Amino acid sequence: MGDRGAYLGLDIGGQSIRGIRLEEDGKVSRRAAMPTPASSGAEAVLAVAAAVLAELGEGGAVAAVGAGTPGGVDLSGRVVGEAANISGWNGVDLRSPISRSAGASAFVRNDGNLAAFAEWASRGGRARALLFVGLGTGIGGGYIEDGRILGGVDDKALEIGHVIVYPDGRECACGRSGCAEAYASGPSIGRIAVDLSPRFDTALARAARAGAAVNAREVYAALAEGDELAAEVHRIAAEALSRVIASALAFLAPDTVVLGGGVLKGATSLVADVAALAPRYVYDAASEGVRFEAALLGADAGLLGAALYGASTLLSREELLLLGGRAAEFSIGR
Ligand SMILES: [Zn+2]
Repeated sequence: MGDRGAYLGLDIGGQSIRGIRLEEDGKVSRRAAMPTPASSGAEAVLAVAAAVLAELGEGGAVAAVGAGTPGGVDLSGRVVGEAANISGWNGVDLRSPISRSAGASAFVRNDGNLAAFAEWASRGGRARALLFVGLGTGIGGGYIEDGRILGGVDDKALEIGHVIVYPDGRECACGRSGCAEAYASGPSIGRIAVDLSPRFDTALARAARAGAAVNAREVYAALAEGDELAAEVHRIAAEALSRVIASALAFLAPDTVVLGGGVLKGATSLVADVAALAPRYVYDAASEGVRFEAALLGADAGLLGAALYGASTLLSREELLLLGGRAAEFSIGR
């Protein structure tokens, strides 16, 4: 470990702007978070990002900053589209103001791609080609091969939540029908439980019929109690997810598939179930030897990915994997 300075990771979401300071030994020494003034325009959002960076910068010298945001980002670090629900976000240059605020080089990528990058780097070289699927409010993803992010045009690759698995199926937020996200995101899992509740007489079904808020968390808490409605909803989610992941195996040939995101917190059998189901929907050679794993980094994947991506611009591959492995150890132990 040298004395370059720390790597800052920033996550600019529609709800909050969060940041970490990753030291050269892999420890996160500082954290900062502030609400995103999403309706106040891009200038206000950038001012909050600057305040978060200022807090993180108080810990000493900064070597590089990585930043993640939902949706598209072009090669110059400009937002493409309106994915973060921030008014006036389309076309905003993120890279220059972040670099100015932190006094270091800045790199901006899609947040799902950065989460995938963190899961790749934290495996210390054990994964060569890694597909990450993040199950949260939506379904995001990323693909890393030998440390390179497969980003496509404007970093929009691996939006696998919007791959249609059932034509004319459930309505998706994107306006299409039958997307994987309409079956296996946190809110979709909750909505399926509500929709199926009239056909069941279980504790979850009665709560859903009484108008209780039902999200993936409630469904998986009920599943742990042996609730039959929860089991049916989980079966539907795992099935949809397995189909889209099977297609991804044929397209990308990963050696490692990582499932992460908030839904995984309660869904203890999801990784094993998808590992068992996905091979049914793709030719044998595509799934042979593929490892299915749960994310190592939990809610920190995006932030660590941002910091590690910034670090990757300065470190050798060996140094980066060492840093990633240490960051994961500290993150798991926390
Ligand atoms: Zn969709």
